[in-house]
Amino acid sequence: MATISGGSTTTVEITTKTNVLTCAVCKEVWLEEVIETEPDADGNCKILSVVKKECACIRERAQVHYEKNLLREHQIYVETNRTGMFFISRFRDIRMSHDDLRNPEVTNQCKNYVANWASVCEKNMGILFRGPVGTGKSFHAAAIAHAVIDMKKRKYPSSHNEPMVYMTTVSTLILYMSELELHRKKWFLGRLAMLDLLVLDDFGIERGNEYTLENLGYIIDARYNSQKPLIITTNLSSNEFKNPPNIAYKRIFDRIEEMCGLIIPVRGSSRRLEIAAKKQEDAKKLLGLND
Ligand SMILES: [Zn+2]
Repeated sequence: MATISGGSTTTVEITTKTNVLTCAVCKEVWLEEVIETEPDADGNCKILSVVKKECACIRERAQVHYEKNLLREHQIYVETNRTGMFFISRFRDIRMSHDDLRNPEVTNQCKNYVANWASVCEKNMGILFRGPVGTGKSFHAAAIAHAVIDMKKRKYPSSHNEPMVYMTTVSTLILYMSELELHRKKWFLGRLAMLDLLVLDDFGIERGNEYTLENLGYIIDARYNSQKPLIITTNLSSNEFKNPPNIAYKRIFDRIEEMCGLIIPVRGSSRRLEIAAKKQEDAKKLLGLND
């Protein structure tokens, strides 16, 4: 029993009760120290503090629960990356497992790229998917982007504030940047620089004015300086890359070729034409039309 003084006139008696139990599993002692006041006139005690010393099983269970929660939080955070505004919606549901294997060589290269992700990052090895419209360049690039997100999802802990993967077009980025004030634009370029992976789809169709070119230069420079991987899909031929329309494009093309050392040609018939033909067929059936 101890005594504490409450002001100069009142004195409160307090007691410490210690409950001791032994855990049947880990044999550690459970301690519970309850510090409370002496019963008042009605027989009620006021608990001042409770100190618990729990056994190993309970501590372990709490730790597992804590880590599970953090992992879940991390997974939710990573998952939102797929639905972010810079992940174009038509690519959201593409996975490597959906590959129709029409270009087995390309498929293998993509799988190897992901399997060697640590080296890819270390060597800053980007990919340039080159080929005509509709051959599946964007599919392969998107499948890689999702595979990187999936890796990130399993890898915890990581910084929650760090963006991970954007798959977008140059025009989407430039349109967004055009609405930003200068300091926000710098901040955004910093974010682009820090992404685990940036995929620019349909590069080269945005050819245009000085403003576009200037901002495209900023985007490419951001990746170039951060030494992080960049994947580009383009219809531009190697000849067009070798003969840029002006000096500004030359600088951009040179940097892209330096960063995207792995050039993957994607050939074959256009899936888009096939999809369009199939849609026409379906529409005819739906409307009960004959050829
Ligand atoms: Zn125990």
